[in-house]
Amino acid sequence: MTDITATPPMTPTASPASSCPVSFEFFPPKTPEGAEKLRLVRQQLYGLKPEFCSVTFGAGGSTQEGTFNTVRDILAEGVSAASHFSCIGATRDTVRAQLATLKAMGVKRLVALRGDLPSGFGVGGEFQYASDLVAFIRTETGDDFYIEVAAYPEMHPQAKSPAADLQAFAAKVNAGANSAITQYFYNADAYFRFVEEASALGLNVPVVPGVMPITSSTQLMRFSDASGAEIPRWIRLRLQSFGDDVASIKAFGLDVVTNLCAQLKAGGAPSLHFYSMNQSAATLEICRRLG
Ligand code: FAD
Repeated sequence: MTDITATPPMTPTASPASSCPVSFEFFPPKTPEGAEKLRLVRQQLYGLKPEFCSVTFGAGGSTQEGTFNTVRDILAEGVSAASHFSCIGATRDTVRAQLATLKAMGVKRLVALRGDLPSGFGVGGEFQYASDLVAFIRTETGDDFYIEVAAYPEMHPQAKSPAADLQAFAAKVNAGANSAITQYFYNADAYFRFVEEASALGLNVPVVPGVMPITSSTQLMRFSDASGAEIPRWIRLRLQSFGDDVASIKAFGLDVVTNLCAQLKAGGAPSLHFYSMNQSAATLEICRRLG
């Protein structure tokens, strides 16, 4: 088992210890225009001195090259980059080759996931769970990578029970994960309970809350239906009542998410990981309000 106290690779401009560190997640852009826009978004967000920026990894082979290209861009900009890495449908040989590519690129941080296949694809592949991937990465590459895994304060939608999901999380930590990033949520109690339960099992890795700014009602409902992240009734009803009034949705979203982040910070969250959706405005404003 790996040393869970391992120091994460940091950007030279990492946040001072007195403030709450932040990190940002991007997805690989599909067009040259998207890539240019993301470049500007990154420059704006770098002003917040992120600990690292991560790039999602498409299942089924859709965006793996895009992931690596975006990770390369972030590293070239002098910022620590984490590549998400999903194993569903993969073989040991393909994973080994991709790990070698990432290592040669200078990547030191991975977010190791099972992933989701697009509907219509069979499961296949040589890895069943993310814990299998974490164990394989440790066997193949020792401590070369700082490994993050996913955590689900409101339970992964396919888990049999919260207890079974916590055991699945334990398996990832015991296989060698250094820390975790959660699925987004709008109920801070679910996060604090998860951290407490993990700690009671002796899983003392940092569990970083994943924060999803609210900028569009339809997009949020769509993501939440797919991921199992709950939108509390009072938030859903208010968002619905705003209809197409984007300004009200954004203003309400900023209040709700800033308040959530303040609760998480006050309750001892080790840092905040923002699902930026390749946008900067909401994340910048939330961080400005948090000071
Ligand atoms: P696992 O930890 O393997 O868990 C999957 C399911 O299996 C859970 O229900 C778990 O309870 C169960 N399980 C695990 N082990 C066992 C066991 N031994 N026995 C029985 N049941 C078990 N998806 C992407 O495709 N690309 C991305 O870049 C991406 N980034 C993400 C980043 C974060 C921070 C998060 C939270 C999610 C991300 N996802 C991404 C989504 C993720 O791939 C899905 O949620 C996926 O369904 C589960 O991945 P996992 O790594 O959590 O899987």
